[in-house]
Amino acid sequence: MNPLLDIKDLKVAYGGIHAVKGIDLNINKGELVALIGANGAGKSTTLKTLVGMVKPAGGEILFDGKPTARLAPYDYVGKGLVLVPEGRGIFGRLTVEENLQMGAYVRNDKADIANDIDRVFSLFPRLKERRSQLAGTLSGGEQQMVAIGRAMMSRPKLLLLDEPSMGLAPIIVQKIFEIIRMIAAEGVTMLLVEQNAKLALQTADRGYVMESGRITLADSAANLLANEKIQQAYLGE
Ligand code: ATP
Repeated sequence: MNPLLDIKDLKVAYGGIHAVKGIDLNINKGELVALIGANGAGKSTTLKTLVGMVKPAGGEILFDGKPTARLAPYDYVGKGLVLVPEGRGIFGRLTVEENLQMGAYVRNDKADIANDIDRVFSLFPRLKERRSQLAGTLSGGEQQMVAIGRAMMSRPKLLLLDEPSMGLAPIIVQKIFEIIRMIAAEGVTMLLVEQNAKLALQTADRGYVMESGRITLADSAANLLANEKIQQAYLGE
């Protein structure tokens, strides 16, 4: 079976800065894959390239067996490739519920959209309580929930999460990762970029390690957690 996502020799440059220097990465349907690495390694750039926000300088991205190169930026969500960006990007002056509705803008099946809002509220009871509150007045953890919930509203085939734990208190980080596990259990395929490498690898099936624009290691999450070099460099052990 073809992988859901197949990245081949991807290169990305910002002017003269080579942020991604020819990476291969694939994800099978139903997998949760972590991408870890230091600041500036090129992880966010990889995610942005996957949703068309940044154009590759070389290589190929196949999604569901088809190249994404010709997709227009607004086509990605409709195809099921959805990014929850670092810093969340929610609409602060809309309510929680309006934010979730925005996530379904590519759809016009009203009854199903209402069902999916209920499904998001069952994943995030906290958001249900706050459905009429302006999203900009929520706590950081609640805003991250809105961002993930909004992405779920587009029924993603591949959900890309960029640093979901960023800036959150440890207890809230645990909560967000519980939700990531619940979403994975529903069968949503995910690529998770995280500074918190330990938690990411404890949650993921497989992991890739990125250093200075290159993938230097790819293995099962269990093997990466047990790898001494990884422990020293990324797991604070
Ligand atoms: P972080 O966790 O800090 O976001 P990262 O692994 O996601 O790190 P990227 O954000 O992808 O790394 O950055 C990779 C490299 O590309 C860095 O050297 C960064 O300075 C550079 N870079 C990122 N965005 C731009 C941009 N818009 N213009 C120029 N250079 C950029």
